[in-house]
Amino acid sequence: MRESNGAPKQYKYFQLLKEHLKGDLDKIFGDKLVLPRQLEIHLPGDHKKACNFNCSFCEGRILSQELCSYEEKALSLIKDINGQIPYIIFGGLYSEPLLNPYLLEMIEETKRTGANFGLHTNGALLKELEDKQGFISQLCELSNSNNDYISISIDAGSPESHKKVKGTKQNYFSRIIEGLRILAQKRSNGFPALRMSYLICEENSSYEDIKNIVSIAKELGIDSLKFSIPYECFGSDFSKVREYKNRVEKDKGLQYETLIAPFLSKDNKEKPYIFYMSPVNQDVDKMNFQHCAYSYYQITIGTDGFVYRCSSTASPSFRMNRLGFIPENFDGLKELVKKNQDITFNPKSCFKMGARCDRVSLAINTSWEEIRKRNKKTL
Ligand code: SF4
Repeated sequence: MRESNGAPKQYKYFQLLKEHLKGDLDKIFGDKLVLPRQLEIHLPGDHKKACNFNCSFCEGRILSQELCSYEEKALSLIKDINGQIPYIIFGGLYSEPLLNPYLLEMIEETKRTGANFGLHTNGALLKELEDKQGFISQLCELSNSNNDYISISIDAGSPESHKKVKGTKQNYFSRIIEGLRILAQKRSNGFPALRMSYLICEENSSYEDIKNIVSIAKELGIDSLKFSIPYECFGSDFSKVREYKNRVEKDKGLQYETLIAPFLSKDNKEKPYIFYMSPVNQDVDKMNFQHCAYSYYQITIGTDGFVYRCSSTASPSFRMNRLGFIPENFDGLKELVKKNQDITFNPKSCFKMGARCDRVSLAINTSWEEIRKRNKKTL
């Protein structure tokens, strides 16, 4: 497998953490409480279902899902945090934020407090919500920085492959592209940033698919397009994850790399910046560090209203990583952040339950471990 390729700076997670800590890595497991860079909120879909798609690689296929109406509390929390956690991210392990009726209000509150928002969505409802309530127009009006971003998991280059990948019968692909077109037209000064992500698998790996999505991204003026290979589901037994690593990430990975190579950007000024995030960034055999420093980067609220140690374990399937129920106010959240920045917490307690770090937490934890060893820092 190829080592990591020129990912743009917003995907260099340890660097982002370093910037958040203003270069002072001694803050990690130091004496004082450090607020994380971001709070991620997994909204509970429309309270009946978490997502409107059925992707073959979705974590929701094996993780247990509970949906709890905790949005009023989340709104008060965002208000009370008042921008002191600089990023509020709306995304989800298995949930689609556009299904949730509180999303726009939460983004409004986020911007009112001076924080930045991130939105990870499948994009299916963008156009419909614009028609009904001017969602896209309002989003573009609210955004005042290219630190705000919308990331669309497009995962296909044609309506046919999109239906197969997403497990749907309707042509959502064309509707998503229409929504994106409106978004691209309405944003002024390039705010919010528009990112596309494309998980390559059997169903969407034809030359035509790749060529078509690259041409759409160029035509619409998308900022970046990331290709990567889906994870084996979190919660799978590690022997299954290793089998997947050999069969798909290594063998198929080479085939996919060859396919996308001619489309990748050569200069980071190119727009869209097209890059490949190699599966080495999700390697299960790298998960052998002593501490979890991800708590300085993010804390996560799951669809069940519980606050979890990290995004990839924010499901009742990983109850051991619950820090507490969503608190009433910022002081309550600070208590949970403190609990999360626990030096005695052993990552092995995750791995033995089938939990794994995602790319972000793996990058942070491996970099921190290297630094700790290099400095012979005993914690
Ligand atoms: S899975 Fe990884 S990021 Fe999540 S709590 Fe465990 S060690 Fe930390």
